[in-house]
Amino acid sequence: MPSVPSSYCVAATPNNLQPVSRDSQRSAPLRVAANQYAMKYVLIIPDGAADEPQDSLGNRTPLQAAQTPAMDAVAQMGSVGQADNVPLNMTPGSDVGTMSLFGYDPHRFHTGRAPLEAAAQGIELGPDDWAVRCNLVTVADGVMKSFTAGQIPSELGKELIGLMQAETSGDAHWKFHTGVSYRNLLLYRANGTSAPLSVETQTFPPHDITDKPIAGFLPQGPGADVLNRLMDRSAELFATSPPNCERITRGELPATQVWLWGEGCRPALTPFAERFGVRAGVITAVDLLRGIGRLLGWGIIEVPGATGYLDTDYAAKARYAIEALGELDFVVVHVEATDEASHEGDAAAKVEALERIDEDIVAPVHAWLKQQGDYRLLVSPDHPTLLRTKTHSHGYVPFAACGRDIDADVAQTYDEVTAADASAIKFDAGCDLMPWFLSRGERGA
Ligand SMILES: [Zn+2]
Repeated sequence: MPSVPSSYCVAATPNNLQPVSRDSQRSAPLRVAANQYAMKYVLIIPDGAADEPQDSLGNRTPLQAAQTPAMDAVAQMGSVGQADNVPLNMTPGSDVGTMSLFGYDPHRFHTGRAPLEAAAQGIELGPDDWAVRCNLVTVADGVMKSFTAGQIPSELGKELIGLMQAETSGDAHWKFHTGVSYRNLLLYRANGTSAPLSVETQTFPPHDITDKPIAGFLPQGPGADVLNRLMDRSAELFATSPPNCERITRGELPATQVWLWGEGCRPALTPFAERFGVRAGVITAVDLLRGIGRLLGWGIIEVPGATGYLDTDYAAKARYAIEALGELDFVVVHVEATDEASHEGDAAAKVEALERIDEDIVAPVHAWLKQQGDYRLLVSPDHPTLLRTKTHSHGYVPFAACGRDIDADVAQTYDEVTAADASAIKFDAGCDLMPWFLSRGERGA
């Protein structure tokens, strides 16, 4: 087991900072000594980049095989190390991994995936409200055939969620919320009561049970009766929906029911500016990351051409990051393409994505940082995504950091092997990396 909560993971306001209220974070000038924070910070996240050596890459990892001179320059100027962002008792994914990477202990702050997605959609949760992910799925003969109901179009998804909304319209607490395609939400509005759900409630992600009988994966524990009742009722309602049935005649998968999972209450994340004294923004095409960013009080920087896929506009992300750094102290650039390549088991695509990130993001951003003044730059994935299994994994990720007060170590390249060197820095609790990165040499890391 990785070591659990360090003092860093406790939301602390450095003594010399005045807390900044959530409302005032974006507009108010930072109330910190200008000389202390007159520098820029950047974190670049190649999502899921950490991996194993591949036969197809000459027994090298994708990071070793890719030509990444800009990332290697960060390694040569600064330090390379390892961080473990996903505690063993939590499911590996970007929700947990990035929360750690941003400096927040997921054991303490991660309540579920749905509240993060609700935040991404601008849905405010009260302190006792809950959010639950509501997939539209296809179950046939008791087996999970598709966790996306064959990528159901948003229009039909909206109609089916509408049936569920009508079903619960008289209920003071349970509210369905339409999202995009198969990705919808169910909310519990407490209105002065407490939710029937609790941390003891157990649900299962539908993408983990593809082609398996659903019987062993139905919600269990507190509130499970309500969730199961809604799932059962959706099966009855969807079976009578004409446009849904038309999908069958066209040879497409119908949505046979909703699948409820990923529940959680609003995470009590201390705003980033209050905790670290830097104003931050994030560039991402992924809703989960937008949600965490919103909850941390970050600016969400939308970049045209950011797709969350291999064809994303890498250079545009760099341009927008540089522009945002005119106003912000800290910008996070998240790229999903490396993770997607692993999910597809495509080693060549993963190498290509890493080279694009290196040339089109790390290089120009680092060049700009150098000419503008003091800075620190960090490159780190959130979690490994293995080409071998095509899915997320537990385990250490390599990071490289350079800039003011970050000493040069012996590492000449940025990859899993140099990061695992015995002399390299190692964070068993990944949430300790961000406080180290931001406070290096200033507040005695
Ligand atoms: Zn992924």
